[in-house]
Amino acid sequence: TLQFTIEGLKATIEGKEILKGINLDIKGGEIHAIMGPNGTGKSTLASTLMGHPKYEVQDGSVTLNGEDVLDMAVDERARAGLFLAMQYPSEITGVTNSDFLRSAINARREEGSEISLIKFIRQMESKMKELEMNPEFSHRYLNEGFSGGEKKRNEILQMMLLDPKLVILDEIDSGLDIDALRIVAAGVNAMRDENRSFLIITHYQRLLDYITPDHVHVMMQGRIVKSGGPELAKRLEAEGYDWVKEELGIVD
Ligand code: ADP
Ligand code: MG
Ligand code: MG
Repeated sequence: TLQFTIEGLKATIEGKEILKGINLDIKGGEIHAIMGPNGTGKSTLASTLMGHPKYEVQDGSVTLNGEDVLDMAVDERARAGLFLAMQYPSEITGVTNSDFLRSAINARREEGSEISLIKFIRQMESKMKELEMNPEFSHRYLNEGFSGGEKKRNEILQMMLLDPKLVILDEIDSGLDIDALRIVAAGVNAMRDENRSFLIITHYQRLLDYITPDHVHVMMQGRIVKSGGPELAKRLEAEGYDWVKEELGIVD
């Protein structure tokens, strides 16, 4: 099984402290949701976990099955099984979606055990069908000219093909209409497994109608200030965040 642990994580961007001591304990098969107002550091947490160079870790630890994640380079984190579907996926001209995906898969494999082209194409086509993606997207340049919803579906396609251990989805629901949301949620639910865990960052509870989390955390001003079950997400949807601030005496 799996154990992902964040303890006392503090990180800065350009000298400004954004993460002020994050603690999270995620076990195999669990889905954790992080909700919170804009600008509280949710995307910063995701990028820091993936090792984005813009974010400087000042304190704390992150371990995956006891291994020090913060000590790993970006590509080592991916090989260890971390995956991030970004809030704003980048476009890469000159690299087709299928080339990108195949090299990402091979980068996670031992030398000499690369996936065969035929097997790769078969897998990609079957996953694209599941996500109701137009087959022509495999030949298009990565995310170039994709609509917001197409980019998000493409992130889920990457997740399905890469078979990660810890999946971080950063606002995967933004820009999705209700049909696309259902398809993306079905993709995530199909990947639920006791050897895989999810950290789902979302601004709205809507996504959590389709993907039931085990734990819901509220993040404010760089900290997780409250944790609960799915009912917490429902209350946030109904009442917003003010009651949490009042309860905890948070002033902004
Ligand atoms: P969220 O995802 O919760 O909306 P972010 O993690 O994107 O929040 O941002 C957290 C804070 O960090 C915000 O105050 C934002 O302005 C700041 N921030 C993000 N990126 C940068 C940057 N490159 N330089 C300076 N500040 C940044
Ligand atoms: Mg935001
Ligand atoms: Mg964000």
